[in-house]
Amino acid sequence: MDFDDTREEAEFRARARAWITKNAPHELHTELVNAPFGHLDLRSVDAVQAARQWQSRKARDGWACLSWPEEYGGQGAPQMHTIIWSQEEAVYSRLGAPFLVSQGSLGPTIMTWGTEAQKQKLLPPIVTGVDIWCQLFSEPAAGSDLAGIRTRSIREQDGSWTLKGQKIWSSGAREADWGVILTRSDPDAVKHHGMTMFFIDMRAPGVVVRPIRQITEQSHLNEVYLDNVRVPDEHRIGPVGAGWKVALTMLTNERITVGSHMPTGFEELFSLVNQITQSGVPAVYDRSLRSRLAGFASRANGLKYTYYRALTELSRGGEPGPEMSIMKLVAASTMQEIATLALDLQGLRGAVVQEGMDDNDDRFQMMLLRSAGARIEGGTDQVMRTIIAERVLGLPQDMRADKGIPFSAIPTSPNQKAPAAAE
Ligand SMILES: Cc1cc2nc3c(=O)[nH]c(=O)nc-3n(C[C@H](O)[C@H](O)[C@H](O)COP(=O)(O)OP(=O)(O)OC[C@H]3O[C@@H](n4cnc5c(N)ncnc54)[C@H](O)[C@@H]3O)c2cc1C
Repeated sequence: MDFDDTREEAEFRARARAWITKNAPHELHTELVNAPFGHLDLRSVDAVQAARQWQSRKARDGWACLSWPEEYGGQGAPQMHTIIWSQEEAVYSRLGAPFLVSQGSLGPTIMTWGTEAQKQKLLPPIVTGVDIWCQLFSEPAAGSDLAGIRTRSIREQDGSWTLKGQKIWSSGAREADWGVILTRSDPDAVKHHGMTMFFIDMRAPGVVVRPIRQITEQSHLNEVYLDNVRVPDEHRIGPVGAGWKVALTMLTNERITVGSHMPTGFEELFSLVNQITQSGVPAVYDRSLRSRLAGFASRANGLKYTYYRALTELSRGGEPGPEMSIMKLVAASTMQEIATLALDLQGLRGAVVQEGMDDNDDRFQMMLLRSAGARIEGGTDQVMRTIIAERVLGLPQDMRADKGIPFSAIPTSPNQKAPAAAE
């Protein structure tokens, strides 16, 4: 990949910069720069509203979802334009947080698995920011072992479906218009074969969303209860029984999105060490600290270029593979290490929580509280390592005791005995 702009790219960059200078919500600039880590929260305005406005302005003038096909609201532009755009959009890209599911993982999944009618119906309102989506995969007893989901989809005589069960840890479910949901349609099929994917209207009768209070005092995560929710067959994504394959497309894209959008906090740390002193000397002159900074800088740059490599692969018509799990693994743990170091440097001041504090004062505290979740969402560190070990390094597979057994026959208590595997 050549990182110098071609003449065409330089021209595109200049146009993008001029448009952003003229149209960006500059009144939010400082607040966005200082926004706490985690989900987007703004103090002066409603963050979702501001996000929708920015998205709709971009779509109006042809700057949204640049690489998506034109017939679905995109611009059919090369991936390099997406990279240039994100460099120029800079801090305003934080307003894209409510669209991470819809643009990052759902959109590409619909393009791969959706019917033409679904593409026409679902993709354009994602581009314009009219529709916000959430991902309803995890359940109380199915997270890392996602194929263990128990939410049922039952086919009715008229061809429609009834959904029953519970999802948990659903980010942004209260703001979402639509949810993409993984269900078990055939409990008697082997675990990975009896699942079907749907999308549901989050305001449909029988959908109940309850917020979960998090350690950061935010409540972006939710429980979602499905009490006999009726879903037309047109809301099925992919074939009946192919839900696991559809889920894998979403999860691969999610890991790239989460990994590439996860701030490591390096810039904030760099700015902190330039501001504070240790024993009267600017902290940035401390040799051991400089060596740690250099380590973080190389990781942050490694992440950036790994992301560009994924985009290049996409632009060549390929699919980013399991090696992209590295991004999420490295970004999340780097964020936690940086937050820990920053709090050490801040001393007692870093631990204070007080009404009216400047955003800047508590940002590393928020970052530390948030970082534990970052190492879990989109696949835990251990799961990422297993993916890398098995699918990138080709190491022997983890033991899977429930392989080849009908889902309904998998023991759920120590007293039950597993039947012999069929395959
Ligand atoms: C901030 C945040 C946002 C989220 N957003 C969403 C969302 O929008 N939609 C959604 O569906 N879900 C969401 N999740 C849920 C997330 O996907 C799950 O929490 C995650 O997959 C882990 O599942 P679990 O919580 O059930 O933990 P478990 O799977 O029970 O894991 C517990 C521990 O056991 C370890 N472990 C489990 N299995 C193995 C194994 N085979 N080998 C080694 N170690 C193992 C794990 O690494 C972990 O340390 C979110 C989670 C967080 C924290």
